[in-house]
Amino acid sequence: MSVLVRFAPSPTGRLHVGNVRAALFNWLFAKKHGGQFLLRSDDTDQERSTKEYEDGIQADLAWLGLTHDDFARQSERFSVYDDVSEHLKAKGLLYPAYETAEELDRKRKLQRARGLPPVYDRAALNLSDEEKAKYEAEGRRPHWRFKLSQTPVEWDDMVRGAVSLDTATISDPVLIREDGQYLYTLPSCIDDVDFGITHVIRGEDHVTNTAAQIEVFRAILDYRGKGEMPRFGHHSLLVGKEGEGLSKRLGSLSIASMREEGIEPQAITSLLARLGTSDPVEAVTDMGVLAEGFDMDRLGRAPARFDVDDLRALNAKILHLLPYARVSDRLEKIGVSEALWNAVRGNLDRLEDAALWKTVTEGEIAPVIADEDADFLRQAAEHVPAGSLAAENWKPFVDAVKEESGRKGKGLFMPLRLALTGEARGPEMADLFALIGSDKAKARLKGEKA
Ligand code: GLU
Repeated sequence: MSVLVRFAPSPTGRLHVGNVRAALFNWLFAKKHGGQFLLRSDDTDQERSTKEYEDGIQADLAWLGLTHDDFARQSERFSVYDDVSEHLKAKGLLYPAYETAEELDRKRKLQRARGLPPVYDRAALNLSDEEKAKYEAEGRRPHWRFKLSQTPVEWDDMVRGAVSLDTATISDPVLIREDGQYLYTLPSCIDDVDFGITHVIRGEDHVTNTAAQIEVFRAILDYRGKGEMPRFGHHSLLVGKEGEGLSKRLGSLSIASMREEGIEPQAITSLLARLGTSDPVEAVTDMGVLAEGFDMDRLGRAPARFDVDDLRALNAKILHLLPYARVSDRLEKIGVSEALWNAVRGNLDRLEDAALWKTVTEGEIAPVIADEDADFLRQAAEHVPAGSLAAENWKPFVDAVKEESGRKGKGLFMPLRLALTGEARGPEMADLFALIGSDKAKARLKGEKA
């Protein structure tokens, strides 16, 4: 059996770290097993779905490297959903109900007051044709509920192990609203069957729907006369570092805003692939390597804590590992050469900050010199070799300056760094020294802008 998984966002907003985690798990699972990854746009809610969000989701996934092998759009399959629902209606598995939201609410309140679970009482199943006609004449339109078997449903969850739920304990789910709109369940199950999805990997907020969905799947599989029930895997959800829900901060946790902040896609994928697992978080720049090390068995059931500071720290590690060829397009835009990238990448929080070191090495800066260091630095200037410099020139230069001045440690290095770069911190001085070059180095040590 070859693996086929899908990521099925509704295009009603941009992707954030929470839903991208589901996309990533599906993608890694597909790669690991030599399978395929389908991107499905769950756009049956035509009022809230937009093309702009759909494009945005695709752009975010492409940027993350989560490429899809196939793409489907639910809004193009309404005739298929209509056909299956007609079949389910004919079989009595989909039945019309006419209660208004207020009436249903009242029923639930009464049930709670009596200490009963708020499960739909199936009153609609007993409506006579006359009663239905009367409702219709009043202008009511039915919503359609799926008739559950009211028996135990079991599945072997890839994360949670054996799960069992008696569908007598849940309400018959509404699959079609009174305005005719399909809610998520029916189109999703039909598509999973028709596309041959082998594994449904998604957040544990869907666990409670799964028993009902399995019954819907059975009905569709029976109608199709072929296909198989997918396996289910429900991963835990992301929470904030204090365990708080993330929903309020989702705007700032969008992939688009992280990209804008200068976070590399590999930092996001490296962190999300390991959060909530028993494996340590590591900076991994190769998605193939990440997929190789991915295992659904290692996902824990506890919520995974997401801290944006971990992401920033991982970002610095990723930059350190990225060879010039992987980022040359972006570096060319800011005029950063390969030599400069190799010198500074170990010291950056964001790739774009390489531009600062371009100014230090190629542009003009005002050296920072404390009065008490001025003489020392003027003398140091005499030791800068003429001609082109290499990183190897730094140590003999410093040794000579040290010997002459008797300075050492911070008192030796900090004035040199401040004068040569204008900054108190930064990449290895040997590399910068070579890139700054002899003329600029001499001038800056003498206190001149250069
Ligand atoms: N469109 C559904 C959602 O975003 C898909 C859930 C699923 O993976 O089945 O919640």
